Amino acid sequence: MIEFVEVGPRDGLQNEQQFVATADKLRLIEQALHYGVRRIEVASFVNPGKVPQMADAEAVCAGLPESSATFIALVLNARGAERALACGRIDQLGAVAVATDAFAMANQGQTSAGSVAAVGEIAGLARSAGKTVQATIAAAFGCPFSGEVDPAHVIAMAHELAALGLKEVALADTIGVADPARVSRLVTAVQAAIWPLPVRVHFHNTRGTGLANVWAAIGAGASVVDGSLGGLGGCPFAPGAAGNVASEDVAFMLDRAGIETGLDLPAMIAANHWLAGVMGRKLPGMAAQAPPFPKSAQ
Ligand code: ZN
Repeated sequence: MIEFVEVGPRDGLQNEQQFVATADKLRLIEQALHYGVRRIEVASFVNPGKVPQMADAEAVCAGLPESSATFIALVLNARGAERALACGRIDQLGAVAVATDAFAMANQGQTSAGSVAAVGEIAGLARSAGKTVQATIAAAFGCPFSGEVDPAHVIAMAHELAALGLKEVALADTIGVADPARVSRLVTAVQAAIWPLPVRVHFHNTRGTGLANVWAAIGAGASVVDGSLGGLGGCPFAPGAAGNVASEDVAFMLDRAGIETGLDLPAMIAANHWLAGVMGRKLPGMAAQAPPFPKSAQ
């Protein structure tokens, strides 16, 4: 059994130039709940001047449906955490530590060490509010500015983060440069460093290695996988970053491989077609472009 986290409403949309209406963001969240998602990133509470697509984070939270699913807000600092917690609808904060100084400066105006300290501050605020918190190590497999990332640094960061009272630690391939062999080695090492906390993985399919990396990560012990409906996604501060692995492609692969996700593939494909209509273009995910297989899966 693998736990799936839908990040479409946040990572999927944040890089879109055209503003997606709050009502459509809420419809996307409702559809994700309908296709079986139990954890979902609903918004990020960041500087709206820098990420205009997330400027309606409070309005999205105010419109969230009643659900027993876990609603996650991504935050980068104490100010974001306070905004997210003030909404009263967020169950979990997702914090971000960055593996390199160059990307940490571009993404959140601090060093790599500063980003780990910020996770500690966010974790404290979440716990005081009775909420859970997790953290993602961004650029864990490669940096858009400084290139190769030393795995030993990522492992040390994961170890440091695990001491902050988090629910899990995620490894993110922000710019889609990871390969399955590297993923397997790093997930194995990070899992050992943070045991018994779970490892979550977050892959972008920029160069076509996304699903192979998901498979390698699961084989190495990762138990939580992120995806974005339709394979939308990108990062405004990482040049060339493209879409996340598509939720429905992950669901198809894992279902065929006999791994439980609790996701309803036909409902995901219907949601993909709805989202393509909202975005006005075909989305990168592949499972929704192909005929159902087997025939009974309609
Ligand atoms: Zn991402």
